[in-house]
Amino acid sequence: MSTLRFELLREALGRTAVPVNNENRPAEDFAKNVFNREKMQRYLSKYTYKALTDSIDKGLPLDRAIADGVATGMKQWAMDMGATHYTHWFQPLTGGTAEKHDAFLEPNANGGIIEEFSGKLLVQQEPDASSFPSGGLRNTFEARGYSAWDPSSPAFVVGDTLCIPTVFIAYTGEALDYKTPLLRSINALDKAATDVCKYFDENVTKVISYLGWEQEYFLVDEALWAARPDLVTTGRTLMGHESAKNQQLEDHYFGSIPSRVLAFMTDLENEALKLGIPVKTRHNEVAPNQFEVAPVYEEINLANDHNILLMSIMKRVARRHHFRVLLHEKPFKGINGSGKHNNWSMGTDTGVNLFSPGKNDTQNLQFITFLVNTMMAVYKYNGLLKASISSATNAHRLGANEAPPAIVSIFLGKQITEVLDKLERVSTDDVIHFDKKVALRLGVAHLPEVLLDNTDRNRTSPFAFTGNRFEFRAVGSSANCAEAIMTLNTVMANQLSQFKIEVDNLIGTGMTKDKAIITVIKNMIAECRPIHFEGNGYSEEWKEEAARRGLDCETSVPLIFDNFLKPESLAVFEKCGVLSHAEIESRCEVKWETYTKKIQIESRVLGDLAMNHIVPVASSYQSVLLDNIYKINALFSKEDADMMCRQNRRIIKDINAHIEFITEKCTEMTEARKKANVITSEREKAVAYHDTVVPLMDTIRYHIDKLELIVDDRMWTLPKYRELLFVR
Ligand code: ADP
Ligand code: MG
Repeated sequence: MSTLRFELLREALGRTAVPVNNENRPAEDFAKNVFNREKMQRYLSKYTYKALTDSIDKGLPLDRAIADGVATGMKQWAMDMGATHYTHWFQPLTGGTAEKHDAFLEPNANGGIIEEFSGKLLVQQEPDASSFPSGGLRNTFEARGYSAWDPSSPAFVVGDTLCIPTVFIAYTGEALDYKTPLLRSINALDKAATDVCKYFDENVTKVISYLGWEQEYFLVDEALWAARPDLVTTGRTLMGHESAKNQQLEDHYFGSIPSRVLAFMTDLENEALKLGIPVKTRHNEVAPNQFEVAPVYEEINLANDHNILLMSIMKRVARRHHFRVLLHEKPFKGINGSGKHNNWSMGTDTGVNLFSPGKNDTQNLQFITFLVNTMMAVYKYNGLLKASISSATNAHRLGANEAPPAIVSIFLGKQITEVLDKLERVSTDDVIHFDKKVALRLGVAHLPEVLLDNTDRNRTSPFAFTGNRFEFRAVGSSANCAEAIMTLNTVMANQLSQFKIEVDNLIGTGMTKDKAIITVIKNMIAECRPIHFEGNGYSEEWKEEAARRGLDCETSVPLIFDNFLKPESLAVFEKCGVLSHAEIESRCEVKWETYTKKIQIESRVLGDLAMNHIVPVASSYQSVLLDNIYKINALFSKEDADMMCRQNRRIIKDINAHIEFITEKCTEMTEARKKANVITSEREKAVAYHDTVVPLMDTIRYHIDKLELIVDDRMWTLPKYRELLFVR
């Protein structure tokens, strides 16, 4: 019978850790494969180097003649690193990255070959983009989009290829990727935040926003992975009964890291460090075979490129160790899924973290200003922010009993909560002192001083203040962080401009600056109260309470996407210059289309597996039982036989009932797909998939999982949860 499964298990169990090349010297090799400033200085003329770094620092366009100089130096460096090809590396809306490799070699007019890489090829290219999703922005007849160099993120070499980070835009200028709006949002936030910072320090000329991501993932042995068509095709298990033991003992979290996994992690870190990704933290996560890797935070655009790059390196390195890495948000039912906490903060070019309580009254008022404006922005656009992290894959994680729920709220911790409570009540005529050590004394002597405790944590909150940053935890493990972060940057930029207008208005009436700021903040604290929630985000009561508070509680992903098209969302993106109306519409089309495709593929795979793995195996087992009954009846008296066969007769009937359900529901599911497929509106199609196909998938799975418990283990072909999750 299913000897294959046991062979694969033996193979997986027999593996030992793959030795890691210990010639690596992480400290010396850091950024070895990156064309960073040190390399630029070595490979570019003084003049070119200065022009390039100036244009990067000031965000100015690069002169064509300079680009030629940069290209020559960059090519030389890449060839010294062993590169033979180059590619524009960009982030289309399909997810992941796209690259088309071209050789440096080009035929010349004399029938020979020369090495060619001009400034023109560095700066702009036209990948044949017709098969990337554009949501109707660029139909295939117009075909062309182009990729354009983003000099603010350094080029790097992977294998034999020089990779040049680029944006990807349509010929008409619309963004077709994740990076373009992210860059626009970074600029919008810089401008709005700098304006507000000037209330507190005239010397601030730039605000830099930062991202520190924490990437969660699962590892599965490649032999077992290969025997699970659902994992191979969809990245998650579409069936599988829960293992008797999974995460209830909490013995995996922060436990010692298994040796095969440690070898993988070390190898991954070495590769990441060479590419300048400052990875720092690694540990086991809550679920069995679940892990996390996190770098030191960086400027957002760079941090995001590094995350995308790391995700692709992970896949490659995992294969060297006979693992497959699962970046899906919910590869296994019943245990924790994977997220990607986005730690987000802002800092001035004078070195002040705007989310850190400061050293004096002014800095603390600045801190409170940015904190409360964040709350206000998240409050007004909580539905939009939820839309920015929603996807078919993340849907399994949101609202399931684990962080975070499908409602966006903010956790502040006890100290900050007290500070805001006091601030809301205090009269603006009182003297306000912020204590040196951090939080504050408000009013005069009658309020106690509060010391900020950074360790206050609430793991159930999707958006938490953690001492010197906000942690947006609802982002999915497979997502491009750019979607969430560009949305957050945009609503924050908008909020800060709004704040400035209100404060300036009050100053215009003759109010002092500090009093005007405190007056506006007090009003904001009162208004955004509903977003503030310190309790258990997983509880049923919170869902009811959140609805009463008017927060977005929608759970259907296709409907959540509607938030992008609300007038206030269109207005905020347009006003901040991040996305135009047409760009948002096209992105929503892509989101709905992607949602439909993901569910469609899963549903087909489930149907196939049900009909050609599960039902045949269950029928075979039924035959074994029937055979057994037949033989017993031949050898024993009717009375004895009846008694002896009672149990098997019951099992045969059970199996029959499950098989009947499965086949019936698979037919229904095919019908539901057929019906949905003819719908022309992408939105309506996605809604139909959500409403009609997904529930059938859940029912089918339920019966398959029951069969897994009944059928003889030796006959079961698919590796089980207890094997996928515990063998390593
Ligand atoms: P935890 O799991 O306790 O949240 P980790 O150490 O796993 O902590 O991850 C914290 C992440 O937050 C790291 O990527 C870290 O660099 C990042 N981080 C720390 N301070 C800031 C900050 N001011 N702005 C943005 N990210 C930050
Ligand atoms: Mg964290």
